[in-house]
Amino acid sequence: MTSKRKITVAYGDGIGPEIMTATLAILEAAGAQLEYDVIEIGEQVYLKGISSGMEPNAFESLRETKVFLKSPITTPQGGGFKSLNVTTRTSFGLYANVRPCKAFSPFIHTHFPETDLVIIRENEEDLYAGIEHRQTQEVCQSLKLISKPGSEKIIRYAFEYAKKYGRKKVTCMTKDNIMKIADGLFHRTFDEISKEYPDIKVDHKIIDIGTALIADRPETFDVIVTLNLYGDIISDVAAQVTGSVGLGGSANVGEEVAMFEAIHGSAPDITGMGIANPSGLLNGAIMMLVHIGQPEIAEKISNAWMKTLEDGIHTGDIYQEGLSSKKVGTEEFANAVIERI
Ligand code: NAD
Repeated sequence: MTSKRKITVAYGDGIGPEIMTATLAILEAAGAQLEYDVIEIGEQVYLKGISSGMEPNAFESLRETKVFLKSPITTPQGGGFKSLNVTTRTSFGLYANVRPCKAFSPFIHTHFPETDLVIIRENEEDLYAGIEHRQTQEVCQSLKLISKPGSEKIIRYAFEYAKKYGRKKVTCMTKDNIMKIADGLFHRTFDEISKEYPDIKVDHKIIDIGTALIADRPETFDVIVTLNLYGDIISDVAAQVTGSVGLGGSANVGEEVAMFEAIHGSAPDITGMGIANPSGLLNGAIMMLVHIGQPEIAEKISNAWMKTLEDGIHTGDIYQEGLSSKKVGTEEFANAVIERI
């Protein structure tokens, strides 16, 4: 029997505790060999005045386990403390944010049954570097940081990902018609690095038309590599196109530490109602199991999850009259997955 792998777990805010409880129940039922170090993050920690949103022991835990399964947290908008997600990504050098978006047609309703794309989002730079100043009461400045080494690292990651998973094309998205220097550097670096991968097709789209095409013809994309902010926006669009933002999981990968989460937020509008779809976090956890060397368990869970969807057992966000057989809440969905393991 494999020895247990210790990971750091945070239940987060809003629907976080509901979807984490469901996800951990499924991992346990599938026989994942895991031990948890549970840390507190998010609103409760911010309220104590800790600006990172993470208790000091949380950083120690991550340095020790190097793997973080994290529920969404509520980030104050337009003021207050800074985003814990951004802090974690930059503190641990989690430079690549990998977000697969795949349609499960005909089991989940979508207008785009052929969608099967992966967004590789740069995760440390861009407007998320947090360089903001108030110059006067009425004028603010937010700086967009793009570096050649950062661009090279993420673009090479995207090509290596395409090679490893047999993907045929990598599309770069920037706005280099306007931000000729910053986005131009990213685009030029893409053109340079692409020459090292002659077997992979390449393409570039300006981000606005690129986003429109994801919403209209997502099946024409394979791997997309882009800057931090654009990647954040287009991954919600792509996940929604597959049926619901509640489906998408993500891996935030660095040289040593990796963090796995759902792409969606803490969904305050449905918190405590027991109706959230735990699939996004579960899909993040599946990527985590592969990362820590438990791919058979990952496959077992993935198959049971797909069988549950095939059987029409759907949470409200993906429920469709005539297609779904039963509308279930978070816990019932998790139990249905467990029954199919
Ligand atoms: P959101 O993703 O939380 O919610 C958007 C919509 O999608 C809501 O209607 C919500 O009910 C629905 N939704 C989201 N997840 C769902 C699920 N699993 N099942 C069913 N429906 C689901 O986005 P928001 O409302 O813009 O943000 C809420 C908070 O989350 C904000 O504080 C934001 O900063 C934070 N946030 C955190 C993360 C993260 O921790 N990684 C990511 C995005 C947003």
